[in-house]
Amino acid sequence: MRIGINFPEEKISKLFDVLDFGDERTLDDILVEMLNVGINSSDLLFVALQKLEEMGVARGAGGKIILDQPMTNDVKEELRKHLTTFLERNTSKLFVTPLEVAKYYQCPRRLFLEKVVLSRQEKEREGRTWDGEVIHKSTYLMVKNIMRQDLVEELPSLINTVFREYKGRYTITLDEVEEFLITFLDFIRKNKFRFLFPETTIVSFKMGIMGTPDLIAIDKKRDIVPIDLKLGRMHSKLKEEHVLQNVGEGLLAESFFRKNIEKCYLVYYSSRDIADIKLSRRLKERFIDYKNQIVRMIRNGRVPPKSNLPNYTRRVCPGCHVRRVCEHIEQLRKAVNRPRKRRQ
Ligand code: SF4
Repeated sequence: MRIGINFPEEKISKLFDVLDFGDERTLDDILVEMLNVGINSSDLLFVALQKLEEMGVARGAGGKIILDQPMTNDVKEELRKHLTTFLERNTSKLFVTPLEVAKYYQCPRRLFLEKVVLSRQEKEREGRTWDGEVIHKSTYLMVKNIMRQDLVEELPSLINTVFREYKGRYTITLDEVEEFLITFLDFIRKNKFRFLFPETTIVSFKMGIMGTPDLIAIDKKRDIVPIDLKLGRMHSKLKEEHVLQNVGEGLLAESFFRKNIEKCYLVYYSSRDIADIKLSRRLKERFIDYKNQIVRMIRNGRVPPKSNLPNYTRRVCPGCHVRRVCEHIEQLRKAVNRPRKRRQ
């Protein structure tokens, strides 16, 4: 979670460039271009379009934006002032990420210690955390190079670059990562996605959510599919924390593209499985409910209880980076709550 985000004013100038398109353009194309040039909140566009409509310069019709007048320097100046005021009002809010909602679900105390009181985190020197980094980085590089004809042949050298960066910390092998990337590449190619945005941060000022889905894919029919990579194996019942994070990323994508998203994908590295999750209203409400609980936890300011998931000591605690702090809290609590012996 973050108080305030850096949203440089130069993004307003970039938005003017995007809006400099002549007579008319589809909203979908404008939004895709915005992501390509690094404008990661469409709230800015919709605030701009509302103002341009008031000024009689632009209007929306049937998924298209029509410019009735050119964007003169005077129009741009007035619009810039309007957008600057909007950003001043909105960029200093609290923003929660889908990953934090997933972590809160697993253990409210862990999120509190990690993100509210900023307890020192003790990450393992090598192991799963770093394996996850290697897989995500390798996948990112593969997607960035997706247009290369010789991509499959180049995968080992691409993975090697990542291995060099994380030397001594990962426990997976190059062959395993390569095999996973080939399977995932096959999935991407079979789906014939038209646009791919790997690790692109999206901000929703309206919802107070920001996040970086591993991949946002847009298919030929312009359907948007957020994709999240997971290190482990897929189980017959998907882990709630995985679903929550995926749903949060779906909500972010929905808010950016202002259209309903039917499904999201969870891709599992170890078992090579791909699960699709229907982005139902019930799941979205559950995500928002947890997000609101985080806000209440911050407002309350007290150390929250430990996880209430069944088997949390086996499921959540072993990977917890603030375990020592949590154990210390428990020891102190036991010490002060110990019943005193009565004097005879
Ligand atoms: S050690 Fe377990 S109960 Fe304590 S904060 Fe970490 S995950 Fe939660």
